[in-house]
Amino acid sequence: MSTINTEHFWMPFTANRQFKTEPRLLKAAKGMYFTSQDDRQILDGTAGLWCVNAGHGHPRIVQAIQEQAATLDFAPTFQMAHPLAFDAASALVSIAPAGLNKVFFCNDGSEAVDTALKMALAYHRARGDSGRFRLIGRERAYHGVGFGGISVGGIAGNRKQFGPALSGVDHLKHPLNISLNAFSKGEPEHGAELALEFEQRLLATHDPLTVAALIVEPIQGSTGVIIPPKGYLKSLSEICKKYGILLIFDEVITGFGRLGSAFAADYFGIMPDLMVLAKGLTNAAVPMGAVLSRDEIYDTFMHAAPQDQIEFFHGYTYSAHPLACAAAIASIHVYREESLFDRAATMSKAFEIAAHRLRDCPNVKDIRNLGLVCGIELTPQVGKSTTRAYDIFHRCFWKKDLLIRTTGDIIALSPPLIISDDEIDTMFRKIAEAITEQS
Ligand code: PLP
Repeated sequence: MSTINTEHFWMPFTANRQFKTEPRLLKAAKGMYFTSQDDRQILDGTAGLWCVNAGHGHPRIVQAIQEQAATLDFAPTFQMAHPLAFDAASALVSIAPAGLNKVFFCNDGSEAVDTALKMALAYHRARGDSGRFRLIGRERAYHGVGFGGISVGGIAGNRKQFGPALSGVDHLKHPLNISLNAFSKGEPEHGAELALEFEQRLLATHDPLTVAALIVEPIQGSTGVIIPPKGYLKSLSEICKKYGILLIFDEVITGFGRLGSAFAADYFGIMPDLMVLAKGLTNAAVPMGAVLSRDEIYDTFMHAAPQDQIEFFHGYTYSAHPLACAAAIASIHVYREESLFDRAATMSKAFEIAAHRLRDCPNVKDIRNLGLVCGIELTPQVGKSTTRAYDIFHRCFWKKDLLIRTTGDIIALSPPLIISDDEIDTMFRKIAEAITEQS
């Protein structure tokens, strides 16, 4: 194994010094497996980082990117365009919930979140309602790392190094309630009434006419897989409608089949006004994010400005980058041709059964799942939060040839949608062993 110089790469969301004492390196990937630097086949329990939904190195996606790189490496999309930009938007709309027909491209989930927030604020202005400046998020929400995203996000640790960020933001409670809903399979029974806090907050604390948008992850992934209680999202959506507040679904994790339907909006039968996407959009092969918008929002922008004027002062050099567009078109083709969203729905039963077998492992406090997402919450070691889950993550990588993700003392699993029954069993068996050995 060749040695590498770890001195110069400042790693994101990583304990750099700890990592560099014993680097965990992945040098190749195919299907459900990474190859580690020391040539082990590592089962991918996290689809990379919730993103490689069709499995690694899909030949159709690889070929599309290679051909595109050789044909058109770059073209601007400010006052210019290239055909694939329109084709990629149409491909995305073809699998999107009916009514979300307009696509704004960016480069990742964080940019997509900030784009959606700006769109919401500018939309209200465009229709002459400029008093709506307030944005509402939720505790324990993760909406990326832009200033908009960390403001509406509910993770204090992601905010406190950076000063005040956006003002006029409020956060609703998150709906995780282990004392009532521990070991729920699918949507928990208790907690729909938490949505009513939104209306109370609007009436008691804010004038609802000052609120531009509510942003929610249908499933809060990054802070430990928080599944919405039955009826909760529907109530939030009804309150938004009642007060003319835009509902933004951040589907960066839940999009592209994770719940066994194209989007969580389909799964829950809720139509948001804006939808934030990234990750699975290109099967993670090229960075790309997108915001899907209702026609009426786009039309409002179009009518508010003279025809020869820019309607939305926003965009990125790499919006609709040709390689990303090629990857998105190919990925959507693969999802459809291989019926991967249906496959995720089919596999979710075996996934749920295997997950809940860990209920009696030591220190397991809760297991929650929906589609191909699962959170296993552990009791923290006394006075040392995160160390138990980190130790299990470490063991899984080095001793079990398995990649999992942990956040706090929660194990979060989100395998590629191509996972087999055997791989589901292997993954949970190895996690059970690691939890038991660790205790
Ligand atoms: N929104 C959600 C719900 C996410 O889970 C993430 C990333 O995990 C983001 C936004 C940010 O995406 P990115 O890391 O691509 O900027």
